[in-house]
Amino acid sequence: MRLDRFARSFLLAELVSGLGLTLKYFFGKKATIMYPYEKLPLSPRFKGEHALRRYANGEERCIACKLCEAVCPAQAITIEAEPREDGSRRTTRYDIDMTKCIYCGMCEEACPVDAIVEGPNFEFATETREELMYDKDRLLANGDRWEAEIAKRLELDAPYR
Ligand code: SF4
Ligand code: SF4
Repeated sequence: MRLDRFARSFLLAELVSGLGLTLKYFFGKKATIMYPYEKLPLSPRFKGEHALRRYANGEERCIACKLCEAVCPAQAITIEAEPREDGSRRTTRYDIDMTKCIYCGMCEEACPVDAIVEGPNFEFATETREELMYDKDRLLANGDRWEAEIAKRLELDAPYR
């Protein structure tokens, strides 16, 4: 027993086996990625930053039914609405307090016209709370920016809804 321990110490067996393990992982497939230069693929059901979508003709989808406001468990959504001159009903105010939002996706589920959605963007950290008070302009701008990705995501998820 003593002789065996002495031989292992003398031949640096632990050191060699440790180096072997290091070399194995050094040349193996890397588990880490170089974020933010590399990113992992996102699920079509990923729930990121909110966006309000438009139809292809530029008209906003939201019909001010307020279902999203009613269903939101965090009471993060505030909507005010008025009829337009043409009689259609549209929001005059659509705010989301992103500091309250728990990203449950229930607003998206409740919306009958796929207007409010949670897009693929998760890089919207801010330095102040005020920057996380989203208004209608901000949400529509998000929709314009991410429309292609959002439409693709909804298409992929459609068979399971
Ligand atoms: S994701 Fe959930 S918590 Fe956030 S605004 Fe929508 S319903 Fe409210
Ligand atoms: S976003 Fe959808 S659910 Fe919310 S008020 Fe507009 S149409 Fe209704």
